[in-house]
Amino acid sequence: MMPVPTRADVVVIGGGVIGLSAAFHLAEAGASTVLLERGALGSGASRATADVVRAYFAGNPVSSALAVRSLAAYHAFPGLPMRQVGYLVLFTEPGQVAAFEADLPAQRAAGVDVELIDAARARRLNPLIGGDLPLLAAAWSPQAYISDTAAIVSGYASAAGRAGAVLFTDSPVTALNTATGRVKTPGGTITAGAIVCAAGAWSASIARSAGVNLPLTEPAVQELLTTDPVDGLPGIPVTLHAASGLLTRLRGDRLLIGMGYPGRDPAAWRATVADRLAATYPSLAGVRLHTAVTGARDSSPDRTAFIGHLPGPAAFLYATGFSGHGLCNAPAAGELIRDLYLGHNPGMDVTLLAATPERAAIPERAAIPERAAGPGTGRPPETNRAPSGPPERVGRS
Ligand SMILES: Cc1cc2nc3c(=O)[nH]c(=O)nc-3n(C[C@H](O)[C@H](O)[C@H](O)COP(=O)(O)OP(=O)(O)OC[C@H]3O[C@@H](n4cnc5c(N)ncnc54)[C@H](O)[C@@H]3O)c2cc1C
Repeated sequence: MMPVPTRADVVVIGGGVIGLSAAFHLAEAGASTVLLERGALGSGASRATADVVRAYFAGNPVSSALAVRSLAAYHAFPGLPMRQVGYLVLFTEPGQVAAFEADLPAQRAAGVDVELIDAARARRLNPLIGGDLPLLAAAWSPQAYISDTAAIVSGYASAAGRAGAVLFTDSPVTALNTATGRVKTPGGTITAGAIVCAAGAWSASIARSAGVNLPLTEPAVQELLTTDPVDGLPGIPVTLHAASGLLTRLRGDRLLIGMGYPGRDPAAWRATVADRLAATYPSLAGVRLHTAVTGARDSSPDRTAFIGHLPGPAAFLYATGFSGHGLCNAPAAGELIRDLYLGHNPGMDVTLLAATPERAAIPERAAIPERAAGPGTGRPPETNRAPSGPPERVGRS
């Protein structure tokens, strides 16, 4: 166990894309920064993404604004692959079209390039769509890219290190106290001027020890499926069937597929995915599906991140609850944490991101019309906890 330093300006808890982005931005701004990760860097949800970064989050212009800002940072990220494929959302119900139109001004104000297109154009963009699918129209946003999460994790880790941050792996935080700024790990205790909680799906108990109620669901297992290789697959955008949450993207000569959570009965879930796939893309009826990846994922009631700041003695900051789109939001989240810590103008209305009692009270299903902002829909079932489960409760030191 590597001994940790006794003092730091800021301790960041969690070494996923959010914690690493925060550590980089803080260190670059001159704060002496220590990041504590209980396992390996990028070993939480950031290990298991579909590598999709995009701007448009239906019904959720706050997440869209974070994503637009993040895309600009990713485009400037040295050597990062960003293959533009676009994002297509298939509307098969009149209410979906009406909701799109009502949301459009806020999306445009957030900087999102998105438009309503007719069914014929949607079918040209994604030739796999079956002729029988009752497609009314689609949302089309060219701002969607296939990137590389592992490269983002290692890029932020290297940049944070170069900027002077010290990153500790195998270093679980076991207790913290915002009155004293003391953060306990098996490698020793650090006294910090500020503590940043970026522990993904495991953040709730850390925040509780600082008196912040983050109403996150428990970590739940989300699974992405892949097809067998398919001859002659056309290039397609990342495509969401809005009514079911079926999300597909091309990966080589296969499709990568997400749809909700396996829940109590993974075989039944897989059969439902296969049925939905065949109904949307009839040429793929009967294709075999395999597990591509599983990962733990968090969710907030309104599918929007919690990002906020409580003043000291030791300040407590949090950036968590990214609800299936943390990769899309990571650069902006790190910038906001830095600005909140320094007391600088964050360039957007951060009060919308704070963990307020009002946000905690929003019933999840009522909050956001987009059913699958990431490759998943709805609330993670209680029965589908991540194998690692919540870690030891983090106490007060
Ligand atoms: C299957 C799947 C596919 C996804 N696809 C996409 C996608 O294509 N695009 C997208 O934008 N998003 C996607 N997401 C969501 C995205 O992966 C997450 O929103 C993002 O990775 C969250 O990053 P994070 O840093 O907040 O959390 P994590 O990556 O989970 O990092 C939190 C870290 O905190 C550590 N930790 C926990 N407790 C402690 C403690 N007490 N002490 C120290 N360390 C601790 C954990 O070990 C973990 O490494 C997907 C998620 C899943 C599950």
